[in-house]
Amino acid sequence: MRSCFAVALIFTLILPSFSFAADQSATSPTILAGYSPRSSQTERDWEAKFRAIPDPANLRSYMQRLSARPHHVGSPYDKDNAEWILAHFKEWGLDAHIEQFDVLFPTPKIRVLEMVSPTKFTAKLEEPALAIDPTSNQKSEQLPTYNAYSIDGDVTAPLVFVNYGLPEDYEKLDRLGISVKGAIVIAKYLHSWRGVKPKVAAEHGAIGCLIYSEPQDDGYTHDNVFPIGPMRPPDGVQRGSVMDFASNSPGDPLTPGVGATPDAKRLAVKDAKSITKIPVLPISYGDAQPLLAALAGPMAPEDWRGSLPIPYHVGPGPAQVHLKVAFNWDIKPVYDVIAKIPGSVEPDEWIIRGNHHDAWVNGAEDPISAQVSLLEEARGLSLLLKQGWKPRRTIIYCAWDGEEPMLLGSTEWVEAHADELREHAAVYINTDGNDRGPLNMNGSHSLEQFINGVARDIEDPETKMSVWQRAQLNAIADAKSADDKKEIRQRPDLRIGALGSGTDFTGFIDHLGIATLDMAYGGEDDGGIYHSIYDDFYWYTHFSDTNFVYGRAMAQTVGTSVLRLADAQVLPFDFTDFADTVGMYTKELQKLLADKQDEIRERNQEIEEGMFKATFDPRRPTVAPEKAEVPPHLNFAPMQNALDSLTRTSKHYQQSLSAVQPNLDNENFVAQLRVLNRELMETERRLTNPDGLPRRPWYKHLLYAPGVYSGYGVKTVPGVREGIEQKRYAEAEQEIVRVSKALEDDSSQIESASRQLDGMGK
Ligand SMILES: [Zn+2]
Repeated sequence: MRSCFAVALIFTLILPSFSFAADQSATSPTILAGYSPRSSQTERDWEAKFRAIPDPANLRSYMQRLSARPHHVGSPYDKDNAEWILAHFKEWGLDAHIEQFDVLFPTPKIRVLEMVSPTKFTAKLEEPALAIDPTSNQKSEQLPTYNAYSIDGDVTAPLVFVNYGLPEDYEKLDRLGISVKGAIVIAKYLHSWRGVKPKVAAEHGAIGCLIYSEPQDDGYTHDNVFPIGPMRPPDGVQRGSVMDFASNSPGDPLTPGVGATPDAKRLAVKDAKSITKIPVLPISYGDAQPLLAALAGPMAPEDWRGSLPIPYHVGPGPAQVHLKVAFNWDIKPVYDVIAKIPGSVEPDEWIIRGNHHDAWVNGAEDPISAQVSLLEEARGLSLLLKQGWKPRRTIIYCAWDGEEPMLLGSTEWVEAHADELREHAAVYINTDGNDRGPLNMNGSHSLEQFINGVARDIEDPETKMSVWQRAQLNAIADAKSADDKKEIRQRPDLRIGALGSGTDFTGFIDHLGIATLDMAYGGEDDGGIYHSIYDDFYWYTHFSDTNFVYGRAMAQTVGTSVLRLADAQVLPFDFTDFADTVGMYTKELQKLLADKQDEIRERNQEIEEGMFKATFDPRRPTVAPEKAEVPPHLNFAPMQNALDSLTRTSKHYQQSLSAVQPNLDNENFVAQLRVLNRELMETERRLTNPDGLPRRPWYKHLLYAPGVYSGYGVKTVPGVREGIEQKRYAEAEQEIVRVSKALEDDSSQIESASRQLDGMGK
């Protein structure tokens, strides 16, 4: 799902640690990491052959076919698409099958939204077909506009405008003396994942939640609206899941932690923890405007106001709103299409590649724009096989179903195969949609150097420079300070983002600790069709990667990554960038705590000085905040010590690997390489803890997780960071100890891999 629009590409780029000139690192070293000189040359030859294969004409025709009709979970065309993908995998000679799971998937039975006073208004809740857009009129197959996993409800209450519905927005409401207790809130989409909005609203006592698409965020403020331009039209609505996956787990709400197979034990719907506490409905700005216009009360703070031609008041009321939603709580099948290419030397080491095929409606951009690249990669690999290429490791291609409701197909597959995956999975690579612009790379930091290397070998379709160089220059353009620019120029690798959630990698990295990458091209085109009936072939071929050259670049990027990971004699993990990143997180956490201490000290002083009394305007009354306790100091020493070991062992590993690299073809090394690669696969697992994160045991990775109050947005070192943010300081201190222990274990694992290499060097 993952919204690609109206959210700026984020490259997190700070802190230099090496000093190479930028032009030296713009080209990739001749010998690939993890390869002998000879095998590196062979590999490069196969990769060059592969990159010549992906064809924009194929990508276009796959997209036209896969997005021709609505294909959400449980729809006839969803199954049809799965079978079509299967037939292609088989036609290309791959060993493929469909794996089915049966999951809870609610669809709307009743949707009513009306204003009952001071005036009457009934919301349309309907996206109109457009004559020019040929698939927008497939009404009988389109899912209505709704939020999946909203609870059933029938409520009437005064309305309150809550900005984006973030925790800090409610603090502002407190200052305005406004409570949402017993109210229905209306929040804008974006700035937090949509499911966080009803969660926070319910925590503050609201009894219903509306979420609307504000034109300032993805409408006419940016460009013309569809079909003249790419932006959201007045009646366009963002569907989407509001399952509380970040506090519980993604996947089927009735089978948490286990695969939703026919014989799985299922919870009753009423016991499913990830369904919302209050009813939720998404609406268009066409439907939102009369409701917002009927609010009185204080003016909304300036940065809350959007671009509708109305004064934005907060309420509560006088608008009284009636919201009624009821759903068919049905079990529906999801069809994951799985294709396998067995490894010739190491069949028990797996490289896994996935993208979902289901959509909310026609879903040309989300997810088909990257599903077509996945298909073209699979075709490319099958052609290489016919030319005699034999991958060293096993490659598994996965076209996931049920991603949109909340990662159903991938999560159930991960849970059903958890034991095998822990044993065999080396790396998972995910995509979920593709557009036009620079490459955005995210993932496990042990793969940062690897993916930077791949990016140096891919040509950008528009500038003809490498996609790495284009990403670097874009990062320099976006960097805020001279120091940041300097780091981007000097650091050999671009920093990659950490993984939050919102797409199918979640089960792999967060639950099992499998090293993961996630990529997309984008950033040049704006759009406002996300999760609407207008995300279709017409929109994509008029407003996005219209000639599919970025679709080809995507197939080349991920295909090259898969080949390079599958063929390497030594899995190309690197831990120096990882250690550097952990160092950065450690500093960030210390700063977070110090800033919080300063902020609270300052506010307490302002309260004592009478600042709030002095600035009080009796005509616009506000409520002064209460004095708060200054956070205690926390002991970061265990983490700093763990970081020191990690820095040491990561350098040792780098030296040991380069010493052995020339001799990797030695036939006596096969058994030793097997042991070594097993150790390397274990490194990411060492960052997990079987007990998981506090209050959410499904999330086992101690360095990366979706935030409980940010949803898709990542929280790095989540136990510590969220402990500080949520004022659970004792817990944060315990988490520092647990994280440090995991980092020490990881460090020992890396050291053990180095010793394995040193043994081979003798
Ligand atoms: Zn998607």
